[in-house]
Amino acid sequence: MASMRVVQVPRPKGPLELVSRPVPDPGSGAVRIRVEACGICHSDMFTKEGLWPGIQYPRVPGHEIAGVIDALGPAVPGWAVGDRVGVGWHGGHCGYCDSCRRGDFLTCQIAPQIPGMTYDGGYAEYAIIPSVALARIPADLPAVDAAPLMCAGITMFNSLRHSGARPGDLVAVLGLGGLGHLGVQFAARMGFKTVAIARGPDKGPLATRLGAHHYIDSQAGDPAAALVKLGGAKVILATVTSGSAMQAVLGGLGIDGKLFVLGGAPDPLTVVPLSLLGHRLSITGWPSGTSIDSQDTLAFSILSDVRPMTEVFPLERAAEAYERMLSGKARFRVVITPH
Ligand SMILES: [Zn+2]
Ligand SMILES: [Zn+2]
Repeated sequence: MASMRVVQVPRPKGPLELVSRPVPDPGSGAVRIRVEACGICHSDMFTKEGLWPGIQYPRVPGHEIAGVIDALGPAVPGWAVGDRVGVGWHGGHCGYCDSCRRGDFLTCQIAPQIPGMTYDGGYAEYAIIPSVALARIPADLPAVDAAPLMCAGITMFNSLRHSGARPGDLVAVLGLGGLGHLGVQFAARMGFKTVAIARGPDKGPLATRLGAHHYIDSQAGDPAAALVKLGGAKVILATVTSGSAMQAVLGGLGIDGKLFVLGGAPDPLTVVPLSLLGHRLSITGWPSGTSIDSQDTLAFSILSDVRPMTEVFPLERAAEAYERMLSGKARFRVVITPH
């Protein structure tokens, strides 16, 4: 039997360990992907640290997968061996709960599937994936670029296109890390007046290079006041992992402004109720999207030249790559390449 290398978490809080396993065959409705690249997402921490209920161990993490279909299971219409495909957070759904019957697969209540959590993900040479979770990768997009777009990219692209902002509106991106460096590119390419907000003066040139029209150094003054001076933001994409940093920009929302919470911050976001009232402000969350949203993200990225900046590690250095992601020092998404 053919074998493959995977990196698994043996138990909650256990190490990322390289092991050999038999290459699995796809069951009904699923495909086998030869993984060419897998992004490391901050949410992989749920698997690594045992923070998600119901994960069965050992488990192979990874939900930013890009590769090629290598084998088809029975009952997989519409896909062929050799197709280039990506998989993100949406890894499948039950198809019969109330959410699914409304076509809202991402909020499936019975059996929401997430690669790397409910089944083995992309820290591996091969992965078995339900065909409903597949997105087509455009021919000109390298796998290493496609992988981070499957979670970080889609979260930015899909929240923005559902934000209600129209071309020319002021859109601010709070944070210039793995999510934010993509958010700025998408916002600028979608035709928004784009403002990047980050800490320190040194990130200004990067913001400009990514397409931002304005840069606000949040340490140099009040970032909310700076946004108001620019006219007030229609949308703020909050990609940071700090509730207090989000709070600091709330006052920068303009009329009907919306703060999108896209980074999981452990500390609370405190809001004075009266401050939301007069200008009809709102605060909302946004969790990535489904496989067709991923496909749209990839297509738009090729169309308008959006690319992640990546640091690439081979599979056997996954533990080191994960630590690099956790350190917050990576510029900007860490990707592992299994082959
Ligand atoms: Zn993710
Ligand atoms: Zn469902």
